[in-house]
Amino acid sequence: MKLIEHFVNGKIIPGSSDKKGKVFNPATGEQVSEVRLASRSDLDSAVEVAKKAFEIWSLKPALQRARIIFKFKELIEKNSDELTKLIVSEHGKVYEDARGSLTRGLEVVEFACGIPHLLKGEFSENVGTNVDSWSIRQPLGVVAGITPFNFPAMVPMWMFPIAIACGNTFILKPSEKDPSCAIRLAELLSEAGLPDGVFNVINGDKEAVDAILENKDIKAVSFVGSTPIAKYIYENSAKNEKRVQALGGAKNHLVVMPDCDLDGAVNGLMGAAYGSAGERCMAQSVAVAVGDIGDELVSRLSKKAEALKVGPGMDKTSEMGPLVTKEHLEKVTSYVDLGVKEGAKLVVDGRGLKLQGYENGFYIGGCLFDHVNKDMRIYKEEIFGPVLSVVRVKTFEEAAKLINDHEYGNGVSIYTRDGDAGRTFASKIQVGMVGINVPIPVPMAFHSFGGWKRSLFGDSGMHGMEGIKFYTKLKTVTSRWPSGVRSNAEFVMPTMK
Ligand code: NAD
Repeated sequence: MKLIEHFVNGKIIPGSSDKKGKVFNPATGEQVSEVRLASRSDLDSAVEVAKKAFEIWSLKPALQRARIIFKFKELIEKNSDELTKLIVSEHGKVYEDARGSLTRGLEVVEFACGIPHLLKGEFSENVGTNVDSWSIRQPLGVVAGITPFNFPAMVPMWMFPIAIACGNTFILKPSEKDPSCAIRLAELLSEAGLPDGVFNVINGDKEAVDAILENKDIKAVSFVGSTPIAKYIYENSAKNEKRVQALGGAKNHLVVMPDCDLDGAVNGLMGAAYGSAGERCMAQSVAVAVGDIGDELVSRLSKKAEALKVGPGMDKTSEMGPLVTKEHLEKVTSYVDLGVKEGAKLVVDGRGLKLQGYENGFYIGGCLFDHVNKDMRIYKEEIFGPVLSVVRVKTFEEAAKLINDHEYGNGVSIYTRDGDAGRTFASKIQVGMVGINVPIPVPMAFHSFGGWKRSLFGDSGMHGMEGIKFYTKLKTVTSRWPSGVRSNAEFVMPTMK
């Protein structure tokens, strides 16, 4: 069986540990490979390599770093079919969706190509007589990224293109459920001319993550994953004096106002709730029906959810693929069981779906609940599967309160034709990413991605200028060049004269 190893110092290297994880093809349910799980010493050795590479990489002019990133961009485009197939084969999502996620990652690479401009500092002439002051941003050193299974290319690409463009060196610890894409990206970076040791991939589980958190030479940690682990990463990075950004889970609401374009809202909800089998942190898993729109909304949604074409990701006609693992399928199924027990009305039941020829694949059909309320666990908790809950409320204010009271605050949307409602919503809602008549409001690479409340720990989002700031530290220089006359020492707080 194929064994996926680590990538360190420009090449694939075998790890020292015998511990291995299993990687499945979710479409067939078959195990397709094993992945080496790193020991602490594997991680520490990779950090030593990255530390050495930093000495040279950080001194390269930003323009030279940008040229390598640009070459990498071209290689991603050239190899996009292969990368997309790798995503499909280990994650399960459908081909076009996987390709779209790769494009969203590519956009961050494109953003990072502008690094000479993005790193330009600030300069003030004559802040005091003959005194100038300027600010520059310098790289941190070795930085690490720990990423989830649901976007094996895009989420790492939210991080490393900007980190390395800023002059840092990088250790990526991808999800052990779908690690192949990360290794292929590392190979492409090498092909693009990235010096050995600048980008390294260490596969692993909690042991590798704890080794990252405790290694004193790692200066910053970027994390994306579930909320309990995000909180753990945040607390332990801070304890070990590291800069940290830790993005967590979500429960996103899409508000359907009575005046909206209902076809637009229903189509938006279908893609946002069932696309990628609901395994997206920006999935819309709650539809909030305002006023008397509920019956019509549920009727239209149910017809479409029943007609959803579920199948293997490589089948061009599939709209939704399988879930990532058998365990995850069992978890999502048990949430549907729970919703029934809690008294929600299961309008469309996708449980127990078996596909001919793919009987062992991890499939579940789209599920739709009506009459969900805020006290139910299926409303409060992240299910991370193709399960859409409809909550009915009387007013816009009630919808906004429901959302603001929720522990998560990643993404949210409103469908309405009322500009006042849309504007008030965008201004008052306690959520980091807001859509108005847009179902999945994922910011572009040159803006920043990040939720509020328990969807993000730390104070910075990913990519855009937040990314540049996260991966650099600010230095401000104040200088005077005396013109012959030396001044005497001053012992009072300096003020500019
Ligand atoms: P996860 O938290 O289980 O795993 C994420 C990473 O943490 C993986 O690399 C994993 O190896 C590691 N990890 C897992 N358990 C650990 C432990 N006990 N100690 C230390 N490290 C551990 O998340 P997942 O299941 O891979 O991904 C799905 C989750 O990610 C969902 O909750 C989803 O909402 C979230 N997510 C959030 C965003 C966002 O931007 N907010 C984006 C994508 C995914």
